[in-house]
Amino acid sequence: MDYLPIFIAIKDQPAVVVGGGQVAHRKVEWLLAAQARVTVVAPRLDAELAELVGRGAVTHIAACFAPEQLRHASLAIAATDSPEVNAAVARVARMTRVPVNVVDSPELSSFIFPAIIDRSPVIVAVGSGGRAPLLVRRVRAQIEALLPAKLGALARFMGERRAAVKQALTPGVRRGFWERIIGGAVGSQVLAGEEARAHEAFAEELSVSAAPAPRGEVYLIGAGPGDPDLLTLRAVQLLQQADVVLYDRLVSDAVLARARRDAQRIFVGKEAGDPQTAQARIHELLIHYARAGLRVARLKGGDPFIFGRGGEEIEALAAAGIGYVIVPGITAALGAAAAAGIPLTHRKLAHSVTFAAGHALDDEALDWDSLARPNHTVVFYMGVTHLSRIIARLRTSGASADHPAAIIERATLPEQRVLSGTLASLESLAADAAIAAPALLIVGEVATFAGARRALGALDTLANTTTPREVAA
Ligand code: SAH
Repeated sequence: MDYLPIFIAIKDQPAVVVGGGQVAHRKVEWLLAAQARVTVVAPRLDAELAELVGRGAVTHIAACFAPEQLRHASLAIAATDSPEVNAAVARVARMTRVPVNVVDSPELSSFIFPAIIDRSPVIVAVGSGGRAPLLVRRVRAQIEALLPAKLGALARFMGERRAAVKQALTPGVRRGFWERIIGGAVGSQVLAGEEARAHEAFAEELSVSAAPAPRGEVYLIGAGPGDPDLLTLRAVQLLQQADVVLYDRLVSDAVLARARRDAQRIFVGKEAGDPQTAQARIHELLIHYARAGLRVARLKGGDPFIFGRGGEEIEALAAAGIGYVIVPGITAALGAAAAAGIPLTHRKLAHSVTFAAGHALDDEALDWDSLARPNHTVVFYMGVTHLSRIIARLRTSGASADHPAAIIERATLPEQRVLSGTLASLESLAADAAIAAPALLIVGEVATFAGARRALGALDTLANTTTPREVAA
C-alpha cells in the first residue's frame, strides 16, 4: 500500500483552503459536509464561495498565501491555478506537519482524496494512488450498484439501537444477532423504507435472541445460467453473508466465487445414484445447517423454481419450521435466448412460449400437439440426450421438416456454442458438433434468429449460417 486509508475526524477543526475558484469551492463543500471550520485564503472569490462567506459558513482571508495562515490548521488544501503558490503551500504545510493536499499533484500532497460512495454514515472510499482515475470511477460505479440505496438508513437504525442490544445480549451472541438483523427481515424492511415494521420486528428478534437457541435460515438463490454478471444484486448480497453454500453441478465457478471467502462450500450435484435419495439428502443438509444456527445459501442454476426442485425444498424447510428467502434467477431459457439473439416471443412469429422438460418423454406429461403448432416457441430443458425422440414426436404431432430449431450449449459461459437449423437438419448438426449437456433446444420460427447477431464475448460456432428470415415491418 502506498497510502494508509483513514477517516479523519475534522468536525469543528480548522481547515484552510488556499484558492478562490471552482476547484477550491468543491473542496470547501467536502470539508463543510464533514463539518470542518473552513477558512478560505484568496484575494478574490468566485460567486459560490462568496455566497458561502456571505452566509457565514466559511471565513475568508482576502489576501495572498502567507505561511502564518497555516499556523493553527489541522488540514490544508492548495487549490489555486498557480503551481508556485500550490508548491509554497505544500512546503509550508510539510515543514509544520500539517496534512496537505495539492489538487492534481499527488507528489506534493501528504494525503489524497479518494472517490467515495456516500451512504452516510456508511462511506466507501476508493483510490488508486492517482494512477488510474478511470478505473477508480468504474470500481466506484460497480460498488454503487451493489450497495442498497438505503444502506445509510440501516446504519443509523443500528446505531440508535446499539446501547439497547448491549444491555440485552451477552457479547457472545451479539455478533450473530446483528448479522441476523442485517441479513434478515429487519434489514430488508429498513432497506425497503419500512422502518415502522422493522422497529417491531427488531424488538421481536431481540427478545427471541435473549433466549439461547440459535436460529438459522436458508436462502434459495437462483444463480442464473452461468455468467456471474447475470446474478441479481440480492443474490450477491445474500451470498456475501451466507455461512454455508450448497451448490449444484450447474453453478459455475465464477458464480461460486461471489460467495463469502470464508463460507463453507458443499457440492450437492446429483452426479450419480438415485436422484430421490440425493434430493432427500439435500433437504437433510439444509435443515441440519439451519438448525445449527447458520445462514445457508442453496445456490441453484438458473431459477430455483424452473425445473429446479425448489418447490420440494421449501416444503421440506416449512415442515421443519425453518425460515427461508427465495431469490429468483435468470432461467437458462432467458439467458440462452439473450445470448443467442433469439426473441422467445415475437409479434409476427410467436405468441406464446413453453418451457418444457425434454426428458419427460414417455408419459403423456406434455401436450405434443400444441407444442408442434406454428407461431409458438418451445424451449426444451434437459433435452439434448433425447434430441432424436423429441424431434420425432414433434414431427408426428404435425411440425414440418423445415420447422426452425436451435441448440444453445453452455449459454452465457465463455464456451457457449450455438447451432441453428431445422427439425430435419438439427440432429446431424448436433451429432457432428458433439453437443453435450447443459444445452437447450429452442423450437419455433424465432429460432431462425439464432446467431444472426453474434453474442458479445461468446464463441459461437455457427454450423448453419442461414440468415434470419426477413420479417416484414
Ligand atoms: N433451474 C434451471 C434449470 C435446471 S434443469 C434453470 O432455471 O435454468 C437443467 C437444464 O437446464 C439443463 O439440462 C439444460 O437444458 C438447462 N441449462 C442450464 N444451464 C444452462 C446453460 N448455461 N446453457 C444451456 N442450458 C442450460
